[in-house]
Amino acid sequence: MGQILVVEDNRMFASILKKKIESSLDHKVTAVGTFAEAQELLESDHEFFIGLLDLHLPDAADGKIVDYALGKGLPSIIFTGDYSDDVRDHIWAKKVVDYVVKEGSHNVDYIINLIRRIRANQGIKVLVVDDSFLPRNHIQELLEVHQFQVLEAADGAQALEVLKQHPDIKMVVTDYNMPNMDGFELTKRIRASYNKEEMAIIGMSTYGNHSMSAKFIKNGANDFLNKPFYKEEFYCRVNQNIEMIEHIEQLSNNLIRDYLTGLYNRRYLFETGSKLLSHCERSDMTAAIAMIDLDHFKAINDEYGHYVGDEVLRQLSGMLQRRFRASDIVSRFGGEEFCVMVSNLTPAECKELFESLRQQVAETNFIADGNFLELTVSIGVCMTTHDTLDAMIRKADENLYQAKETGRNKIVSTGP
Ligand code: GH3
Ligand code: MG
Ligand code: MG
Repeated sequence: MGQILVVEDNRMFASILKKKIESSLDHKVTAVGTFAEAQELLESDHEFFIGLLDLHLPDAADGKIVDYALGKGLPSIIFTGDYSDDVRDHIWAKKVVDYVVKEGSHNVDYIINLIRRIRANQGIKVLVVDDSFLPRNHIQELLEVHQFQVLEAADGAQALEVLKQHPDIKMVVTDYNMPNMDGFELTKRIRASYNKEEMAIIGMSTYGNHSMSAKFIKNGANDFLNKPFYKEEFYCRVNQNIEMIEHIEQLSNNLIRDYLTGLYNRRYLFETGSKLLSHCERSDMTAAIAMIDLDHFKAINDEYGHYVGDEVLRQLSGMLQRRFRASDIVSRFGGEEFCVMVSNLTPAECKELFESLRQQVAETNFIADGNFLELTVSIGVCMTTHDTLDAMIRKADENLYQAKETGRNKIVSTGP
């Protein structure tokens, strides 16, 4: 985890900042009060990924620290005491992440969110589409200051190629007027495969054509910017659109995942499992369902309490997630019962897979709240080539019941 550098001569503000950041983020803060100290830190090998810099320091007036830190490649957020247009323009002329007026505690929250944002941006791909090199390069630089992974294309056709190679791009910033394929056509084409909640599109055009913004948005863009724009407006729009996408991602994730363990829930298993099963039938692949249930789990709760029980469920879930492939469906079916759907295994491979899972659980020392716990699972497996998901789950459940009845810590399987 990288560190955060604070350069601020107001000790009170610096210490509030350090305390609040360290209690809300997983980053250590180093705070110094002078340019000289900051210089010493940045000259040596350091691990800072962002700097929070006061514009005026006792030994460096007028933003000398900003130029110095940016020269060292440190993304920087600037504090100022005042908010005049002059100061604002002066700061934005440099390649800073943002500037913040020192006012009160809500600004500290703003800074914390901003640091979180910059951290998250490092994993987000943005595609910039413009046929003119200078504006494209300018936008790329702005996005890179905010730590996005930036990809480029010179027209709509190129953009579609880049999207094919990077289907995880979260945002496209596109000009209107381009050879081969313009921004409207590109927007329409992207919308044929990605909806507004999956990929944000910001349209751009040179100031003067009033109908552009509406046309872009009617073609499926999320937002629009006139060129030239203020950096501050650009960043506000980019952040707002990225946050919307993340928010929706989070919501849909909540719908398909179990809160305690993070595994898929029953709803996801039924929706996606049926699709996987039809796919297997069409491609002549095998599919199998396994119901996995902890043995005498109630006793764990009774003896150690619910908190320990929950921790065991989380650890077992982690084990399941690591063990199976991304194409398998690992779900929490209910309480202490899990359902796993696997495909394309021979009956022998399938039996071996679940038998070795059973063994792994039996040999694991689960550690919760300082207690070492030994647990076992019983597993009912149904392997088949042509049956409904419901029927397979029912059969797997019957087999699980058999495993419980005949001694637990064992697997009972049938089919194909
Ligand atoms: P068996 O070997 O027959 O499966 O016995 P068992 O005790 O595991 O099964 P039983 O169905 O009698 O009890 C299941 C227990 O699982 C009871 C319930 O309190 C516990 N449980 C279910 N969901 C949760 C949960 O989310 N957290 C915790 N801590 N316990 C849970
Ligand atoms: Mg049980
Ligand atoms: Mg049970």
